[in-house]
Amino acid sequence: MKELLCLGIEGTAHTFGAAVVTGKKRILSDVRDMYTTESGGIIPSEAARHHKELSNEIIENALREANKEFNDIDIISFSRSPGLAPCLLATKDKAIELAKKYNKDLVGVNHAVSHLTSGLLFTEARNPVYIYVSGANTQIIALIDKRFRILGETLDVGLGNALDKFGRGIGLGFPSGPKIEELAKDGKYIELPYTVKGMDLAFSGIVTEAVNKYKKGFKKEDLCFSIQETLFAMLTEVVERALAFTEKKEALLIGGVAANKRLAEMLEIMCKERKAKFYSVPIKYSGDNAIMIGWQGILEYNAGKRDNLNVDIDDSERTDEVEVIWH
Ligand code: AMP
Ligand code: MG
Repeated sequence: MKELLCLGIEGTAHTFGAAVVTGKKRILSDVRDMYTTESGGIIPSEAARHHKELSNEIIENALREANKEFNDIDIISFSRSPGLAPCLLATKDKAIELAKKYNKDLVGVNHAVSHLTSGLLFTEARNPVYIYVSGANTQIIALIDKRFRILGETLDVGLGNALDKFGRGIGLGFPSGPKIEELAKDGKYIELPYTVKGMDLAFSGIVTEAVNKYKKGFKKEDLCFSIQETLFAMLTEVVERALAFTEKKEALLIGGVAANKRLAEMLEIMCKERKAKFYSVPIKYSGDNAIMIGWQGILEYNAGKRDNLNVDIDDSERTDEVEVIWH
């Protein structure tokens, strides 16, 4: 039987990407481009413009890299939810345009869910507690009774956004996460507020306090080190409780902030102490990419999902709203 081929298209926020993935878990291509700024944060309309300008070129390159043509593709999947509305719209319009033009089956998927399911494609984890830390999201999740249940989450901004906001406050550009990680290597600990509320987390107050301390003359390096230690310790505490509660024996770190080595180290130490296995999505796949959208498209297509050409975006669909039909 011919191997299913899916063209995945990602474009929920800063990154526009296209990838060709097969039903036998082969990744044939992965092309992406990220909207960045020198200073200040992401401007949704500008990010959408970036996506519109580059989409044809990125999709063509993904097909070329895979050595395929539109004729060979069975499914077009795209990130339908959640994200920045202008970006979601640009991505959806392109996916519909191509599905119509080449008469392909269309599957719209949830970006966050795609991060979770592709974590099992990229690692050996099978039934983990998921630690999903991206720009906009911070959720501790486990699959229980066909839903990705959110056991704990941020009450305000995502961990990546918190780092980016702090970075903006001390004059770093977007994204700040990697720059903070670098500066933190030369830093010493300064006490900051610590806000874990049950299984939930709050980051905004800590960011404000750290930026205030910078204005009062505290060193950039020390604040970078301290904000990482504080925010990551809070997250590790909640993940430990989630492991205890669910009795799961694996933890899987996913999302853009998974690229941070100090965060992975803290989680790994905690997992070792609990005799749980720790997995992290390889750095090259931790950020937004279209492989995960392609793989999720295949899973849902195999479970019978098809979208029509009137499919709409949903900028706020939650992870636990999606029924896990593919298990
Ligand atoms: P995503 O939304 O999943 O693409 O993740 C993007 C977020 O990851 C941004 O907020 C970045 O600042 C953050 N990020 C990327 N690399 C790192 C890193 N090495 N350390 C901390 N945060 C990072
Ligand atoms: Mg993401």
